Amino acid sequence: MKIEGELRKEIIDNGRELYAMHLMTGIGGNISGRIDDDAIIITPSGVCKGRMRAYDLIRMLIETGEVTAGGKPSMETPFHLAFYRRRKDVGAVVHCHPLFCTLLSVTGETVRTDLTPEGLMVLKDVSFIPYATPGSEQLAKNLSEGMIGHDAFILENHGAITIGKDVADACHKMETLEFMAELQVRARGNDRLKPLSAEEKGRIMTLVNNGK
Ligand SMILES: [Zn+2]
Repeated sequence: MKIEGELRKEIIDNGRELYAMHLMTGIGGNISGRIDDDAIIITPSGVCKGRMRAYDLIRMLIETGEVTAGGKPSMETPFHLAFYRRRKDVGAVVHCHPLFCTLLSVTGETVRTDLTPEGLMVLKDVSFIPYATPGSEQLAKNLSEGMIGHDAFILENHGAITIGKDVADACHKMETLEFMAELQVRARGNDRLKPLSAEEKGRIMTLVNNGK
């Protein structure tokens, strides 16, 4: 169980950092974190994530989606709740529209993680989620089908999601995901592009599976 005041502060601090890094822009993007088995804190609709106050955040129940404190939650609440319902290991969910992740999303590509050891260690394998209208139950359903075994997602014609054990972990994954997306886009057309060998990928995954 997480102390609610600390969780609110983590969401505000990390929102400010994501905004400063241009991973969240305007009023786009949303962040949530798990308090316990029953409740989460989630960012509000229509507020810049670089300028949130503790009282802007919303507490809601995972099973019913009932708001128990605060105002209007993020329009993407359905997929946040889907993660917490389906995966008990998820402590935080971050969604935003970083430029290079979104660039790949509109060309129907996912992010390659096999170009550097860090990409593979932090992200393992990135899932590509078929398009559905933002905020819809269909988008939550598409994610439910692709969420097992993945911590990073590219949403077709939309953006990216990362999940983690806590807010900082999910944000670190988002930063790495955007770095790998930019690397992939900038390396395009370079016929000397060389991913890690199959043997090295095996060694890295062994490190990951052994907890490094
Ligand atoms: Zn979005």
